[in-house]
Amino acid sequence: ESLDLNREISQIFDILKLSAEAKGMTLKLDSKEQIVHTFNPDEFRQMMINLIDNAIKYSEINQSVLVKISQDKEEIKIDVKDHGYGIPEKDVSRIFERFYRVDKSRSKEKGGTGLGLAIVKHIIYNNHGSIEVNSIPGTGTVFTVHLPKIRD
Ligand code: ATP
Ligand code: MG
Repeated sequence: ESLDLNREISQIFDILKLSAEAKGMTLKLDSKEQIVHTFNPDEFRQMMINLIDNAIKYSEINQSVLVKISQDKEEIKIDVKDHGYGIPEKDVSRIFERFYRVDKSRSKEKGGTGLGLAIVKHIIYNNHGSIEVNSIPGTGTVFTVHLPKIRD
């Protein structure tokens, strides 16, 4: 199935807008062109909702979340960038494990189960892609998803 990814992301913004606005946060999409990909719609939505939900949840009030989507011949690249708490270096390699949460007391207060990123990783693996994290504690985090266009 061919998915218009820009349109999908706008619809996800509509879903998450209330929780963002409750914290005075804005969601922005940066995209130069319409990007279409054969991705399972439910998987794409679940992946993006988890990443954007985290970006909102692990930020202070009044910050923005930026989703940037671009493509070249080989792949589609999606950045989800926040100006939130960041992730300490010692935890970065573990956040994709099921039930792993960085700050136990804060996580408890935020709700959730610690499954979001495990699901994201699984979906990306199923689609032969990859994900990387760049984070600076106290400054923010960027999750970058790479989705190959050509599949074997
Ligand atoms: P759930 O997604 O099930 O509601 P969760 O958000 O705690 O719960 P994950 O999405 O798997 O679980 O994230 C695991 C942990 O990684 C989080 O508890 C948080 O500590 C950290 N984390 C994830 N995304 C971010 C982010 N954008 N900024 C800072 N920390 C993050
Ligand atoms: Mg989460």
